[in-house]
Amino acid sequence: MTPPRNPLLAVLALALVTGAPAPALAEHTPGVPGWQQDVHYSISASYTPAKFEIAGRETLAYWNLSPDTLSELYFHLYLNAYRPGSHMARHDAYFEDWKIENLPSRRRGSETIDGVTLLRGDPLPVQVDDTIAGIALPSVLAPGESVIVCLAFRSVIPDVPERMGRSGKGIFAAQWFPKVCAYDRFGWHAEQHLGSEFYGDFGAYDVRITLPGSFLLAHTGTLVNGAEVLPDSIGARLEAPGDSAVTIWDRSGAAAPGDSAGRRAYELPRTWVVHADSVHDFAWACDEKWIWRRARWNGIQIYTFHRKGDSKRWYDMAGEGARMMEVLNHRFGPYPYPTFSFVEEPIGAGGVEFPNVVWITPRRSAIARRLEYLFAHELAHNWFYGMVGSNETAQAFLDEGLTSYAETAIMETLYGREGNLTIPRTPRWLYPPDDSRRTAWRSYLEFQASGIEEPVLTHSDRFKNPAAYYPSVYHKTNVGLWTLRSIAGTDRFDAAMREYFAIWRFHHPYAEDFFASMNHALGQSYDWFWDGWIVRTDRIDLKLRKMRVARDGTDYQAELEIRSRGGIDPPVPVRFRGSGGHEVLRTIPRDVFLGAAGDGRYRTTLPFRPSEAELDPDLTLPDVSWSDNSTRWRLRLQPMLDNWHSSPMPIGKTLLLWRPDLWYQTEDGVQGGLAFDASTVRWEHALHGLAGVGARKPRPFADFEGRFRALSADPKGIVRARAYNIDGHRGAQLLFSKALGSRIERGFRWTLAAGVDLDRLYDRAVPRRSSEWSDGGHGNLELQVSSTRNFRRVRWSGAMRLRTDLLSEGASYSSIYGTMTGDVSVIPKFPLLLRAAAGRVRGDQVPPEERFYLAGAGPRGEWASRWFRSRGTIPTRWTAALGGDGNVRGFADTRPSGRTLLAVNAESRSGRLVPSWVPLLSRIRIPVVDPRSSLFADVGKVSENKLDWSDLAADCGVGFRTKPLVRNHLVLRTDLPLWRTPTLPGERPWKLRAVFSVGEAF
Ligand SMILES: [Zn+2]
Repeated sequence: MTPPRNPLLAVLALALVTGAPAPALAEHTPGVPGWQQDVHYSISASYTPAKFEIAGRETLAYWNLSPDTLSELYFHLYLNAYRPGSHMARHDAYFEDWKIENLPSRRRGSETIDGVTLLRGDPLPVQVDDTIAGIALPSVLAPGESVIVCLAFRSVIPDVPERMGRSGKGIFAAQWFPKVCAYDRFGWHAEQHLGSEFYGDFGAYDVRITLPGSFLLAHTGTLVNGAEVLPDSIGARLEAPGDSAVTIWDRSGAAAPGDSAGRRAYELPRTWVVHADSVHDFAWACDEKWIWRRARWNGIQIYTFHRKGDSKRWYDMAGEGARMMEVLNHRFGPYPYPTFSFVEEPIGAGGVEFPNVVWITPRRSAIARRLEYLFAHELAHNWFYGMVGSNETAQAFLDEGLTSYAETAIMETLYGREGNLTIPRTPRWLYPPDDSRRTAWRSYLEFQASGIEEPVLTHSDRFKNPAAYYPSVYHKTNVGLWTLRSIAGTDRFDAAMREYFAIWRFHHPYAEDFFASMNHALGQSYDWFWDGWIVRTDRIDLKLRKMRVARDGTDYQAELEIRSRGGIDPPVPVRFRGSGGHEVLRTIPRDVFLGAAGDGRYRTTLPFRPSEAELDPDLTLPDVSWSDNSTRWRLRLQPMLDNWHSSPMPIGKTLLLWRPDLWYQTEDGVQGGLAFDASTVRWEHALHGLAGVGARKPRPFADFEGRFRALSADPKGIVRARAYNIDGHRGAQLLFSKALGSRIERGFRWTLAAGVDLDRLYDRAVPRRSSEWSDGGHGNLELQVSSTRNFRRVRWSGAMRLRTDLLSEGASYSSIYGTMTGDVSVIPKFPLLLRAAAGRVRGDQVPPEERFYLAGAGPRGEWASRWFRSRGTIPTRWTAALGGDGNVRGFADTRPSGRTLLAVNAESRSGRLVPSWVPLLSRIRIPVVDPRSSLFADVGKVSENKLDWSDLAADCGVGFRTKPLVRNHLVLRTDLPLWRTPTLPGERPWKLRAVFSVGEAF
């Protein structure tokens, strides 16, 4: 059953026909709250841990306060989304996320209505379509009338760590009861749940939850019968005065008594009675082993519920929560409820908000304030979501964006403007500070440059590329609000946010209401900003083109020629500098920009002769390119030691990462040098490379690569230029690559690359296998297309490469090479990787480095890996093969090569030393390198011309590899091809052989 597609049109049509008064929509004044529906839920539910099932009876009193007559009610059955075939499962699968489609039956969720009646009435028919139930009322509900509906329901909480889920025997229950859809001036919001945020009516809840006696409950609202469900000692502790954090109850060691009578008494069900007022949802969680702590602020109880293993980080968090409560009350307005609970649950997203209660994922980082910002974010949601109840399904920025802004405000107030996301550690150059505002700014600029931006105001379920949702709704809104705060003035903006909160508390504003309220409170219209930033994908892009200076008596007239190309023309701060330390800051009003053209001239009188002018010198505007904002270009570098953590990118500067580089190979001996990488926020790895000198023969080496891209014209087209003189080779490369096709993250994703390269081997003593190299020195042309796609049980990737000599005398060849790889998850607990490779090279003079190698990567592939490039880095007497070419690794000792290649490889990859399907032994863990194992089999053939099918080479065996080491930069691997054919003369097929490698086989 589907509700009318556009109830507004239906009403309008009716009004035209009957001449009835204009519908409710016309009466809405943006910025002024209108009518809203009222609800009162009474729910009795009991939880069965063995089945993760909640069985309940619900009585809903529904007041129709709209000016419209209703003939049906709609209910959300959100949990039905978490099973294969649901709208959400199919929606995710469309974007190649198969999690729910592949969910095993014991982990699925469901929500069933077992019967509906009106109070003391007859059963009503229910029509269920996945996550929406429609109930036709026996008689219409006129404006001002109310109705009482009684439902029986059963809900199974799915094992998907999302907004709800399971944890041990307990659950965190959200969207767990049939909830009436919101009806507002746009009609019924009875949309299928596709995973986005929620929207509900404010009202009251009286909930009785029956749990086994061993469980503790955390919940929305206030506990009414504490004396019945909590021991007297706990009751006394709850009553005790004092604001500082205390442990109310440590149940981490709680266990059922050994005897059956004691156990029965311990698990004897208890009913928790809870009341909540002025909330639009009700969530709860239960667990047997929580540590329950409490702090207070201004009489409000701030609870934390965590597990013992995370006590180190959680112990102080009730106190931090209380400090955050204080910040939010002062910054936005009062929290009127008596309690707030932070509950540790293993969710995927970091945190999830519900009225008076939030789930927070375990975060153990000792160097970042990850837990603090999650606390800040989820608590702030109780202002923007909890009390200001927007339609988040449609306009998620009104809760997520405003909450992100509030989160940044909390972090800055409590932990300082600089470094508020990092816990200060020495040495500072090894642990660079980062902060919340800069993180959002950086994320926005990266997102803007990625080419997938869509308007902030896009409906949550209708982003063409789901990857655009998060940066746009969270980060872009956050950055925009800080920008507007600097434009409008901080005090005025803070007051306006308080006014918006005060007006819309316990109401349902839409974007137009937010804009109207803010404009009104700020005393002028900022529609130019809202339109560009929220409604469209405009940006701020300023350029200072020229400064002219003329003498004017004792003063100077400065004229700036400026250009604004982003679509948003803000007032721009400008700083003039002159000799003798003269400096003055002015603001260019936005009306100097000539309408849509964005060009402007700004004249001002200065008491000194300016030698330099700079737009937005203090970085208050998220200008997409800040390097053209000054009359004087200067390189603003921030050098930093590359510690292989992610280094926070500075705004308005170029980050120069550097690290000492030490390496070894036989010919040069120890090589010492310096590696560097220069990046800006929107231009990663703009220039990177390595330079140094070898110790044995002091000969210098260098390898530089620059990446260029046309940012605004084509964000995905990248040109790379590289020049090197290293490890006996000298050469240069020029490569253009481009992602083709749609920006939507589904289907085959193609990349095209074309390049030319030139390489000369000038020292034959250096390469690991010098007989596999010609002297080179000729040009080559290469073209490659590659593609990836995620099917339901196969992650597929493929590539096809064409390569030929480029108009050269020294070589004459052309080759084609293709590979296909599938990551197959058909057999449970047995992930399998399959690969096929084929290649052919023809020509009169085929250099050995262009031939195909059966055992693994050929010389050019090995040259790309520093481990395999030179003699002696991996001891030369070791049998070693790098993944690539035929990958029939059992032949690494003889390395057959040919002009034609065909190979198929299979490898099972266990995430453990002993695969998880082997009982007991699979629990073995070895620390530090945490080795994993695999079974493999390869078959293939190389030959000089056409393939003949006799004498196929084959191997099989078992391999071991370390977990990714050195910040995921290094995997060490040894494969044991215990069997191979054909064998060497006199060799048996079964034998202990070992092949060493670095990196995965494929
Ligand atoms: Zn959020």
